[in-house]
Amino acid sequence: MLTTTNPLSGTSASTLCRCPLCSTVLSFRPHPPPYDAACQECGYPLWCFSRTVGDLIVLEVVSGTMPTHKEVHRLCDTLLASGSVPRVVVDLSDVEFVSSSFVARLVALNKRIQAADARLVLCGLRPVVREALHTSRLDEFFDIAEDEATALTSLCSLRRAEELSQVLDRESALIWRRPAIDPALD
Ligand SMILES: [Zn+2]
Repeated sequence: MLTTTNPLSGTSASTLCRCPLCSTVLSFRPHPPPYDAACQECGYPLWCFSRTVGDLIVLEVVSGTMPTHKEVHRLCDTLLASGSVPRVVVDLSDVEFVSSSFVARLVALNKRIQAADARLVLCGLRPVVREALHTSRLDEFFDIAEDEATALTSLCSLRRAEELSQVLDRESALIWRRPAIDPALD
């Protein structure tokens, strides 16, 4: 298996392209239409493919593809059914143009991820894509990073901050028994 150590997280990063739905390793890198393809295992249309960096998921969107709402929700179901809270980077660097329909799919994806307390970061936006989000005032709705490395760092540092805050919460719960802080206990 082709793995490298990711300098960002110190965890293993897989360079293999996988079906985002069934995780089957793809024997090919999906091409944009008219050569677009479906997963040879589950038949899911490969509007994106996935890679993993530690427990982070990178979805690389294939240029010119357009998933249906149902296909986006199928992917969300899979991401959210994995047990752990997914942290997802959506890499748009191959995408040269986004229609309002495609932006709506990204919004749907982001909403479901956020509703599950998970996090999604967009990266690799070309100027025309960034402009499309800005025009529709959606650039504030999304977390946007310049490139994949920045997106991964942002998700990693968020995780460390969350872990630290959990540790601090536990420690403060031990230290502060709060005998007289709550007036109801006086
Ligand atoms: Zn598949």
